[in-house]
Amino acid sequence: MAQVILLGTGSAWSSPTRENTFLLVRGATTNILIDVAGSPAQRLAQLGVSPAEIDHIILTHNHPDHVYGYPILMLNAWMAGRKEPLHVYGLQTTLNSAKALMNAVSFREWPNFFKIKYHVVTPNSIAKLPPIGEFDIEAMLAKHYVPTIALRITERATGSVLAYSADTAPHENIVEIARDANLFFHEATELNTSSAGHSTAFEAGAEAAAAHVKSLVLVHVPPNVNPEQWRRAAKQNFRGKVRVANDFDVIEF
Ligand SMILES: [Zn+2]
Repeated sequence: MAQVILLGTGSAWSSPTRENTFLLVRGATTNILIDVAGSPAQRLAQLGVSPAEIDHIILTHNHPDHVYGYPILMLNAWMAGRKEPLHVYGLQTTLNSAKALMNAVSFREWPNFFKIKYHVVTPNSIAKLPPIGEFDIEAMLAKHYVPTIALRITERATGSVLAYSADTAPHENIVEIARDANLFFHEATELNTSSAGHSTAFEAGAEAAAAHVKSLVLVHVPPNVNPEQWRRAAKQNFRGKVRVANDFDVIEF
């Protein structure tokens, strides 16, 4: 059974107990990191995972709280002895930012640095990424301030589905990407105040209901979050299971 581990659950403003939101999806043979925030090596060390063990990274968009850990993860993977190419997936704008971050830290000067293979995701409506280990992955555009992808990750052997809204206001694409998912991670940056590029807990509940998911997990929550309040707001729209994620939660799907 595949697992997702919440390496961070906070909004752009991190706090002592909530790192910026980023996730590790673990199959039997594959580690996929979704976004890279915080101090990734330190977070991974708590799980007993070396930075060199990350073979695939999906970047949802180029906002700092989702990509700023990327260069240090690359440095630490190299220090940990990585030799094999590492695969990075994202929209063209996101990958341009990832490359610019690497150029800013002069990575070409690092002796024998492994190869990074960039894979551009170009969704018209729905984009299939190349198969990654035991997972099939699809992406659709979210509704955020910059180009952003929401994700659907299917474990091929079981058909079990994890969906992730990334940063987004409510949008039909999010409902489509999460359709009938076992596990739906939805951002809930606000409790009640709607905005053009983020969602409230109430709205996350409505998306979960429209998509008929089994279980909703709220992420990208602010430092002052009252989890019970957020959970109740989502429950107003959604009858299934709702929880507010905490850093280092491990959830099977
Ligand atoms: Zn963002």
